[in-house]
Amino acid sequence: MDKPRPPRTALVVHCGAWAIPSEEKAAHRQGSLRAAEVGWQVLLDGGSSLDAVRVAIRSMEDDRNLNAGSGSVLTRAGHVECDAGIMLGTTLEAGGVAAIRNRKNPIDAAHAVFESKYTLMHGQGAHAFLDQAGVPCVDPESLIEPRERARLVTALERDPADGLDFKEAGVSMPPDTVGAVAIDRFGRVASGASTGGICGKPSGRMGDTPVPGAGYYADDLAGGAACTGWGEPLLRMGLARRAVELAREHNAMDATWLAMQEFEQRFGGRGGVILLARDGSIGYSFNTPSMSVAYMDGELQMPYVGGIAAD
Ligand code: ASP
Repeated sequence: MDKPRPPRTALVVHCGAWAIPSEEKAAHRQGSLRAAEVGWQVLLDGGSSLDAVRVAIRSMEDDRNLNAGSGSVLTRAGHVECDAGIMLGTTLEAGGVAAIRNRKNPIDAAHAVFESKYTLMHGQGAHAFLDQAGVPCVDPESLIEPRERARLVTALERDPADGLDFKEAGVSMPPDTVGAVAIDRFGRVASGASTGGICGKPSGRMGDTPVPGAGYYADDLAGGAACTGWGEPLLRMGLARRAVELAREHNAMDATWLAMQEFEQRFGGRGGVILLARDGSIGYSFNTPSMSVAYMDGELQMPYVGGIAAD
């Protein structure tokens, strides 16, 4: 077990783990780099880890190349239905939304739940709650990217009975879910995740992303994590919490590697996880061909971007 270092301000983001095609690699590097830059700026300005996570995730939700907020994948019926969640490791409080259709930034919707006495809201009830909480509503059509209509047609042609095989998530299917973890100057750990889910999913299907412990987890005493990949086994395993618990006894890289081993071998899952240990050290691991990751701390001049193999 490595000797723990004192906490340091740091931020790590990802924008999905899958077989990112050559022509899309630059956009993924760019998306994660931009998110790391804007999230880091919040920390530099003395902002909280919770705000840094929100700002980083918002930037990826607004990036129409990625599967979160605008540009999300579509349900079988052709709608965008988003899941998102956010957690603060100081209080161990979390907020998540599932299957929401008309908010530009689902992470802000999750944050509104975080600020309430509830932890998880979904569907129509969530829409009414978000209206009351003042989270702006948008035309659901504005979230749809033409690329995704074409992708849905291909998916349904391949398997008209039940959409795509979810096991393909992380391989030929582009998950592109986004996530972020940050530690601020007070050692407060926050993490969050946001996704449109899996292309061709039935309406109402919810993966790991809005669920604390599964898609994201934060604990100031251990660290924070955010996951991506096939949501059903991620939910069953609680991968984010598992990775954070492993970081109590292992360095950050080993913790994510061990968690992914368990995810693959015991749950048959595919995907990836990012982690910040409480000392600010980074870990990430994935069992897909690529995962787009960016990391920044006070020792670096500019964010480190990794996880995407060069062609
Ligand atoms: N985990 C997400 C889901 O299953 C998808 C992803 O991360 O790519 O909804």
